[in-house]
Amino acid sequence: MNIWLYALVSVFIVSFVSFSGLVGLSFTRNFLQKITLLLVALAVGALLGDVFIHLLPEIFAEQGSTLASSLYIIVGILLFFLIEKIIRWRHSPSITQHSQGTHSHHVGPMNLIADGTHNFIDGVLIGVSYMVSLPIGIATTIAVILHEIPTEIGDFGVLLHAGYSTKKALWYNFLSALAAVLGTILALSIGPSIGSFTAAVLPITAGGFLYIAGSDLIPELHREINLKHTLLQFLAILVGIGVMVALLYLPA
Ligand SMILES: [Zn+2]
Repeated sequence: MNIWLYALVSVFIVSFVSFSGLVGLSFTRNFLQKITLLLVALAVGALLGDVFIHLLPEIFAEQGSTLASSLYIIVGILLFFLIEKIIRWRHSPSITQHSQGTHSHHVGPMNLIADGTHNFIDGVLIGVSYMVSLPIGIATTIAVILHEIPTEIGDFGVLLHAGYSTKKALWYNFLSALAAVLGTILALSIGPSIGSFTAAVLPITAGGFLYIAGSDLIPELHREINLKHTLLQFLAILVGIGVMVALLYLPA
């Protein structure tokens, strides 16, 4: 029962991250972009930390090094590759460009569906992580929250530039974020009855997070090549990794 409580509280926090676009409204574009890039760097550290410090050791401890877990990691990478592809079909390619407002594409239902699918999978990953252990659940929740903040600010910007009112943009973003709650509930209800569910989802999480960190977020960081900002980004990545190391010492 405790697992349900922890997982549901976590995923509701994740859903409310969709309102971070609103906070962004009160900043200037330039400042917002700088903050967003630091958040992206922090998320890179947290995602890599979750994968290499929590998820992979857990997978190897539980299942050993099997072909199945290797393939599931690749499935995770390809899954997020496909979702990302669908999102990019419909609107501009980068988070920072969203906040610069250089695009005003039509945001179709396809985009909301792809975003919703991503959020749904994030929710499943949170549910499964709590089924494994409390520290892994918390680590995955933090990794999801940190990569969702800059993503949600970007999504919100896209909806505004597509001509949505602030209220409508927030509402759509929140609805797509609620898909995460569904994902968690599904994982917690059907997970225990499917024997190999955790064994499959844990490596898929690792692969998905590797993809998001390496192919989605790190390229954003290369938009800023100034030395001072590069050092700050590097520091933020180290902080993200540090948070994941600290979670190892959580009593559980
Ligand atoms: Zn996500």
